[in-house]
Amino acid sequence: MSEFDPVHSMAALRREFGEHGGVNMSIEASTTFTVMEAGTMPQIFQGQRGPDQGGCYLYGRHFNPTVYVLGRQLAAMEGAEAGYCAASGLGAITATIMQFCDAGDHVVAGNAIYGGTFAFLHDYLPLKAGCRTTFVDTNDLGAVERALTPRTKLIYIETLSNPTLRIADIPALARLARSRGVALVVDNTFCPLMVCPITLGADVVVHSLTKFVSGASDIIAGAVCGSAAFIARLMDLHTGSLMLLGPTMDPHVAHALSLRLPHLPLRMREHGVRALEIARRLRERGWRVSYPGLEEHPDHGLAKRLFREEYGFGGLLTLDLGTTARAFRFMEELQNRDRFGFMAVSLGYFDTLMSCSASSTSSELDAESMQRAGISPGLVRMSIGYTGTIEQRWAQLEDAMARV
Ligand SMILES: *Cc1c(COP(=O)(O)O)cnc(C)c1O
Repeated sequence: MSEFDPVHSMAALRREFGEHGGVNMSIEASTTFTVMEAGTMPQIFQGQRGPDQGGCYLYGRHFNPTVYVLGRQLAAMEGAEAGYCAASGLGAITATIMQFCDAGDHVVAGNAIYGGTFAFLHDYLPLKAGCRTTFVDTNDLGAVERALTPRTKLIYIETLSNPTLRIADIPALARLARSRGVALVVDNTFCPLMVCPITLGADVVVHSLTKFVSGASDIIAGAVCGSAAFIARLMDLHTGSLMLLGPTMDPHVAHALSLRLPHLPLRMREHGVRALEIARRLRERGWRVSYPGLEEHPDHGLAKRLFREEYGFGGLLTLDLGTTARAFRFMEELQNRDRFGFMAVSLGYFDTLMSCSASSTSSELDAESMQRAGISPGLVRMSIGYTGTIEQRWAQLEDAMARV
């Protein structure tokens, strides 16, 4: 593990105080910004002035000061040089991919990625931009290498695959990408603070802030972290995908999220403690549970090497109930009778959320892709919350287990 500490890095940032000395930063709600001298404006348009060159802002779809502060905080958390935010995770992801790819270019992506990202790469991008994607098992380095073509611009992976919870060997993939002149882009939505892909060699990290970073299932948001040059490309007035496609984060959202970053470490730690305890108990009962913190998980060794110890192994586990019907019955018992959690997509909420992946968040995949990705029809993904006590939650789970 590297010496980089994301919490320390975030705390080392210059504190932003409110306009009147408030302990929190002010919200800059303006969509347009004045200059003192008319000659400054052409300089902003020519890129000679900007947020980091004289504190010059232009227009709210370009850099906004409040959004930029959140971007810097997230960049510090990821060990990146720079960062900026988007209106959604998918806004950040699609802008990033389009920034790397011109018509006719090629992407190599994991075969168990978020359904929306899969649909974008599999269906949308070839249709609209003539960019093809080859989906491979990214735990098989040979398969990744064989899929690379002279037109490949990026390898796209998720730190923890969804819903199969396989862990990407980021250092090995980064070495391969570098040796072939290809960028490595990592979606780190499932593992904020737990893994810092850029410090392990990745070029760009994207996030859906909608999940753990928000923590309350009330905000849709996303972010991109990478080199200052890459963030500048994304925001370029002529060719920047984040600037021109316009998935702009509202400054009020940036402000709300910045107030949740200080307690993200506490929340991530507690998600991890709860999920590990529940996974261990389920395993003892002989249930088909998958969790990176269990010794029998295929990537447990990799998890111990890449994950930061203080956050454990994350808040997500899966439980295979065999059939869709049994998975549905189990979730209904857990929600409607036992009050263990909610049947809902998404993750990173303070209460437990559960969904049957094959018929929900991964349903963008066709039957063959589903099988190749190892997603069984009865697989229930759980994002373990931290409300209530562990014993209370375990009693609720045991009750549902006894009924299905
Ligand atoms: C939710 C999610 C996304 C999409 O993010 P939105 O904020 O919903 O646009 C992308 N990747 C992963 C891993 C996700 O869980």
